[in-house]
Amino acid sequence: MSDCYELRCRECGKTWGNAPRSFCDDCFASLEVSFDYERLKKTARRENLASRPFDMWRYAELLPLPENFTPPDAIGGTPLVRAHHLGQRWGVENLYVKNDAVCFPTLSFKDRVVAVALTAARRFGLHTVGCSSTGNLANAVAAQSAQQGFDACVFIPADLEPAKVLNTAVYGARIVRIQGNYDQVNRLCAQIADRFQWGLVNVNLRPYYAEGSKTHGFEIAEQLGWRLPDNVVVPMAGGSLIGKIAKAFRELVILGWVENKSVKFFGAQATGCSPISDGVKRNLARFEPQKPQTIARSLAIGNPADGPYAMKLIRESGGWAEDISDPEIVSAIQTLAETEGIFAETAGGVTAGVAEKLLAQGRIRRDETTVVCVTGNGLKTTDAIISHYPLSAPIPPRLESFEALLDQQLAVPTVAGKGA
Ligand SMILES: *Cc1c(COP(=O)(O)O)cnc(C)c1O
Ligand SMILES: [Zn+2]
Repeated sequence: MSDCYELRCRECGKTWGNAPRSFCDDCFASLEVSFDYERLKKTARRENLASRPFDMWRYAELLPLPENFTPPDAIGGTPLVRAHHLGQRWGVENLYVKNDAVCFPTLSFKDRVVAVALTAARRFGLHTVGCSSTGNLANAVAAQSAQQGFDACVFIPADLEPAKVLNTAVYGARIVRIQGNYDQVNRLCAQIADRFQWGLVNVNLRPYYAEGSKTHGFEIAEQLGWRLPDNVVVPMAGGSLIGKIAKAFRELVILGWVENKSVKFFGAQATGCSPISDGVKRNLARFEPQKPQTIARSLAIGNPADGPYAMKLIRESGGWAEDISDPEIVSAIQTLAETEGIFAETAGGVTAGVAEKLLAQGRIRRDETTVVCVTGNGLKTTDAIISHYPLSAPIPPRLESFEALLDQQLAVPTVAGKGA
């Protein structure tokens, strides 16, 4: 039986079969995987999911996977946290955090996209895989390549966070550090994909890679009891994830797995790299590329490939986009941690801080159901916040010393009834 999906040009609609390519040769627009939904309606049943483990592979029919595909490992399947404390602080009843800070295996949602891209790489007979990365993608490519036996070669800006570089190196991937920012790294990778028979997951395998993001959206809908939320707040780098959550919701409606409902999409960026939110706020026809300068390194893409589509989605859905400063990012990381026990990376701070701002502006209504998408783990970006948490002076291992400390520093009274 033939595939029930193939690549299609997002502008002229021409189809290109299935191959490691991401651009239409006719009009140079980007390609997207398009499914034959009439066929899917007959084969994909929501009831079939009941017997499957809760990870991203439970939505296999809705992903561009080969026939007789056997899932390599559990990936995704992260918690949707009912955020009572954060909701109380912000005055929102129905607030949820989709927590990909604990995504398996490398603690960011990039595990989802790499899982699908490597499946495509295997199908196309590519033995070396790689990516251009702001950090998390390189982590995911390195780990999954090690597990599945691909050679990995990743390209990163030279000045990435040390933890993100270490989290790639440990898996034995080759790391090429480039003197330049992400946008320059990405341009080089486009040339490398032309020259070598390599599968660069976010370059020539990008259409397949992008489909993996849909599972973040499928899980949200299923975890809400097969319902769609009113609002979703999504961090934006290249602008792909936000569009694929929308595609996931649309597909669930087409298949009849959820009731149709309009969902407002809200995009979140750091002010130091905000081409998409700037474009939305100034109502520009095209965003203006920027030179990134922010602690939210994983979102630092100044010329986002899917920026125009993200802007269109945000506008048409009735949502909005916002951005926050670096100090606001740090403060939002703290808020998420102390209210919900979730330690997010800088990108998660961006999403939470922007959600708070949109609530204050009245753009997100407090009586509606809102999902905040946290996409990466705080242990990878500790250098961005460490100066805000100075260590206390150590004390000798003696009870008197501790009591003295309580007296001076914490000003906590001694146990009631014992006297002082
Ligand atoms: C890559 C990344 C994003 C944004 O993804 P795009 O699909 O490029 O918009 C968001 N959060 C984290 C932590 C990321 O690593
Ligand atoms: Zn085209």
